[in-house]
Amino acid sequence: MGNFLEDIIEKDLADGKVKRVITRFPPEPNGYLHIGHAKSICLNYGLAKKYGGDFNMRFDDTNPVKEDDEFVNSIIADVRWLVDAPRVLYASDYFGTMYECALILINKGLAYVDDVTPEQMKSLRGTLTQKGTQSPNRDRPVEENLRLFDDMKNGKVDTGSLVLRAKIDMGSPNMNMRDPILYRVLKATHHRQKDKWCIYPMYDFAHPLEDAVEGVTHSVCTLEFEDHRPLYDWVLDNCWRTPRPYQYEFARLNIARTIMSKRYLKKLVDEKAVDGWDDPRMPTLAGFRRRGYTASAIREFCAAIGVAKSNGEVEAGRLEACARDEFNLTSERVMAVLEPLELVITNRPDGYREELNFEYALGGGETRTRKIDISNRLYIEKSDFELTPPPKYKRLCEGALVRLKCGYIVKCTGSEVGKDGEVKRVFAEIVEGTKSGEDNSGVKARGVIHWVNAENCVDITAHLYDYLLLDGDGDFSERLNPDSQKTLFAKAEKYLESAVLGKVYQFLRLGYFCVDCKNGFPHFNCTVGLKDSYKGGA
Ligand code: ATP
Ligand code: MG
Repeated sequence: MGNFLEDIIEKDLADGKVKRVITRFPPEPNGYLHIGHAKSICLNYGLAKKYGGDFNMRFDDTNPVKEDDEFVNSIIADVRWLVDAPRVLYASDYFGTMYECALILINKGLAYVDDVTPEQMKSLRGTLTQKGTQSPNRDRPVEENLRLFDDMKNGKVDTGSLVLRAKIDMGSPNMNMRDPILYRVLKATHHRQKDKWCIYPMYDFAHPLEDAVEGVTHSVCTLEFEDHRPLYDWVLDNCWRTPRPYQYEFARLNIARTIMSKRYLKKLVDEKAVDGWDDPRMPTLAGFRRRGYTASAIREFCAAIGVAKSNGEVEAGRLEACARDEFNLTSERVMAVLEPLELVITNRPDGYREELNFEYALGGGETRTRKIDISNRLYIEKSDFELTPPPKYKRLCEGALVRLKCGYIVKCTGSEVGKDGEVKRVFAEIVEGTKSGEDNSGVKARGVIHWVNAENCVDITAHLYDYLLLDGDGDFSERLNPDSQKTLFAKAEKYLESAVLGKVYQFLRLGYFCVDCKNGFPHFNCTVGLKDSYKGGA
C-alpha cells in the first residue's frame, strides 16, 4: 500500500490530469539542512523517481536579508550527498515573472498599493474572532496602483513605506486571506540578483508562482501550510494559466529531544554552544555526516517512518537503528580499548609475541580474518575488571577465567592497587591449550573480553556523544546537556594507524566509530552504540 501522496499521484496520472510528475524541495538558504529537511527531500525525490518524473531543488531565496552563500553551498552539498544530483534552481530567477503576475492582479483590480504601517496593518487585520477592517486605500484606482507599484519597483520609495496587497476578503475566517501583502520594498543586496530589485515578493505569493513556473505538479509541504492553501490557489487562479500545481500537506518530522528549527540551530552555532553547524551532535545533515551516518542510513530511516497526515514524534532510537543495521552488515571489526587498564600475562616472558587469527563475522554471515599479535602486556577495558565483583559477574576478577577475544583463556591471579585505591595493573596467566580455534581443553570461560596489545598499539582520541538537550520542557538554551560530548584517550590495534577518513569501524563490544578530522587532528567519533542506548542498554 502506498502513502496518501502516492494515491493522489496515481489517480492524477490515471485521470490524465498529470502527464509527468514534478516535485520539488524548496529550502530557504538561511541555515544548514537538518534531518527534518532530509525527510522532505527523500519524500519528494522518492515520488518523482517512483513515477518517472523530475525532482527540482529550488532555493526559496526571496528574502535577501537572511540569506547567505555559505548556506546555499552547504545545502547543495547536503542534497547531493543524500540523493542523486538534482536540478538546482533559484526562485530569484523568476522575480521577473512574479512582477508580471503582480501587474496582472493590479490590472484585474485584485491588488492595491497600501501605505499602512506594520502596526496599523496588524490592528486592522482583526483577530480569529473579529473581522478585519478594510484599508482606506483598498479602492485606489488601477492607474494609481500601477504608478505607485512602479515607484516601489524603481526605488523611489523607502524600505517599508509601501506594500502591494491582494484584494481578497477582510472578513474571511482565514486570516491569510485578509488582503495579505504580496510585495514589499526592501533595499537590500540579493545574493544573486545583487541590487537589481528593491521590491521582494512575500512567501505566499512567490511560492505558488515558483512551483507554476517549473511545472511542478505536486507541491508537497508540511501541515502548518494547510491554512495557506486557499491563498496558494487564489494566486494561481487569478494570475496563472493552466496547467498549474496543487499543494498537499504532510506531517513534519519531529524527533524526541532533537531541535528541528533552523532558528534555534543557528542560535546554538552563533552562541558557540556547539562547534559549528557540522558539530557531530547537531541534527544537521552536515553533523550526521561527520558523526559517521551514511546517506543510505538516513534514506532508510526516512522511508521507514513513512508519511503521516497528523503530527507526532519519532523516537531518536529509530534513526540509530537504521545506521546500526547497515554498519552491522558492512563495518570492519577492530579492537580498541577506550579506558585502558594494563593486563600483565605472568606466564610469558618479556619479548613474547605470538600471531593470532582475528576472525569475525559480518551481520550478513560473511567471515573475515586478519592477523593480530599478542604479547605479555595488554590493555583491557577498566570496566572489565572488578576488585569486588557483583554476583554472576562475567568478566575479570581474581580467580576468574575469561577468554581474550580470538586469543587464549586467561586466569586472573591478582592486581596491583595504588594508594588511591585505584587498580593500576591486573595479572593473569594464559591457560595452556586454550588458543582460540585450537581449543579442545574443555576449560570454560565465564565471558569474552576485547583487548589491545600494549607492545603494538596506537593512541587514538575518541569522542562519545549524548543528546544535546536534557529531557524535559522549556527553553532549549536552558536544557543544554553539559555532558553531550565526552573525549577519551584510548588505545587501539596498530591496524587503525591506517584507518580511512570517513570510514566507520566497529570497535568490538563498544560501538561504531567513524574517522573524522577537524583542524588537522584525526580522531574517532562514536556514530552509534551497539545497542539501543535510548532503551537503557549498555
Ligand atoms: P525551519 O523552521 O527549521 O526554518 P523551514 O521549514 O522554515 O524550517 P525551509 O528551508 O523553508 O525551512 O524548508 C524547506 C522545506 O523543508 C519545506 O518544504 C519544509 O516544509 C520542509 N521541512 C522543514 N522542516 C521539516 C520537518 N521537520 N519535517 C519535514 N519537512 C520539513
Ligand atoms: Mg520556511
